[in-house]
Amino acid sequence: KASLAAQKRGWHLYLVGGAVRDLLLADKAAGNLMIKDIDLVVDGFHKSADVGAGVELAKALQQIYPAARLEIHGAFQTAALLWHKDPEFDSLWVDIATARTEFYPYPAANPEVEASSIRQDLYRRDFTINAMALRLTSPRAGELLDFFGGLLDLQAKQIRVLHANSFIEDPTRIYRGVRFAVRFGFEIEPQTKEYIRYAINSGVYDRTTQENSRTPALQTRLKAELKHILEALYWKSALQLLDDLGALQCIHPTLKLDRELLWQLRLLERCLQRFDQQQTLVHWQIRLEALIAHLAPEYRAKVAQNLQLPEDSIARLKNLAQSFSQVIESLPNCQRPSQVVQLLRQFNLPMLILIAMHSPLCLTTNGCASTLRRQIWHYLTIWANVQPILNGNDLKKLGYKPGPQYRQILDDLLTATLDGLIG
Ligand code: ATP
Repeated sequence: KASLAAQKRGWHLYLVGGAVRDLLLADKAAGNLMIKDIDLVVDGFHKSADVGAGVELAKALQQIYPAARLEIHGAFQTAALLWHKDPEFDSLWVDIATARTEFYPYPAANPEVEASSIRQDLYRRDFTINAMALRLTSPRAGELLDFFGGLLDLQAKQIRVLHANSFIEDPTRIYRGVRFAVRFGFEIEPQTKEYIRYAINSGVYDRTTQENSRTPALQTRLKAELKHILEALYWKSALQLLDDLGALQCIHPTLKLDRELLWQLRLLERCLQRFDQQQTLVHWQIRLEALIAHLAPEYRAKVAQNLQLPEDSIARLKNLAQSFSQVIESLPNCQRPSQVVQLLRQFNLPMLILIAMHSPLCLTTNGCASTLRRQIWHYLTIWANVQPILNGNDLKKLGYKPGPQYRQILDDLLTATLDGLIG
């Protein structure tokens, strides 16, 4: 229906980007394909085709499919149709854009848009495997448009960028390249790796790491890519490859995936598996916090702010150093379990995990750090779950009048239970 609507207006319609790549990959692997995100591009036959063609087509389609929700993104002249759990489409997201090229007024800025043809539209994309189009309109419906060798790269399992300046224009493409490489088990083609290294060495990360009113969109895209990576099963390999390429500097110039951080990330995973089986925490976000927590204290909150993390994450990273000092200083004075509980229960689970991770790796030279981790582990596994042997109802039955003294009695009972005096 979309192609008929486009054809009626004298336009070409193309399926582009990830859906074409995944169709070709699925063909080869004869695997199941579930595409939930479709990118369509409308291209006029004439130079006069205006930038609003995609929006017009989306509106026409919404008339045909009233169940779809229509969203129009003015600045880029794109529209989206969303089917949410529709009986016909399950859930589906269709983006419709007008063929466009982008020019960058300065590197790492927001792309600006002008009307152009499908070839130029594909040329502005990130990698050859994402820059193919399948024509949906007649004549030659079903034809694959592959101007840059995407199919060959798919066969060769290579991630190849389209042009030398690509990573300077948009450093988040480094993260995208790594994501696709690790996800599909592809290699980043050697010349593309060189372009990445060149972009990093030329300081492209300055624009991703500095608070800069001109680049909030860049920070948003970087965060989106980090989310994609850190919530995928392959997140560790992706971080490793980002580190090999020097690209963790896009988060902060001093960030390195060193032995200590690797160890901390392993501890984090153990904690998440053990203490957050219900997944009440946002795991990708805690992983990102763990990376940021590895930075020197003075950078943490700033980096979290730049990446637009939620307020509680920013506060946690801001307070981590102080909370850690408080715990490491007070813990040696805690002789009884109830005192440990008293100290640790002021912190929530993510903060306790960060504090545990934060204690130095070297166990032999710093016995205090290993004691701290053991105590936190013990607190989370056992002490935090201990309940006083009586509750409020029991006190009532025993004849105590409800009131503020209940809290005190229950606390005393808990202390006695924890310290093994009763129970
Ligand atoms: P996924 O399956 O992970 O969603 P995708 O290729 O569909 O992969 P999207 O982020 O949905 O990824 O992007 C859709 C298409 O838009 C890409 O295939 C690519 O052609 C283009 N694209 C997205 N981000 C960029 C970018 N930063 N630079 C250039 N092209 C991009």
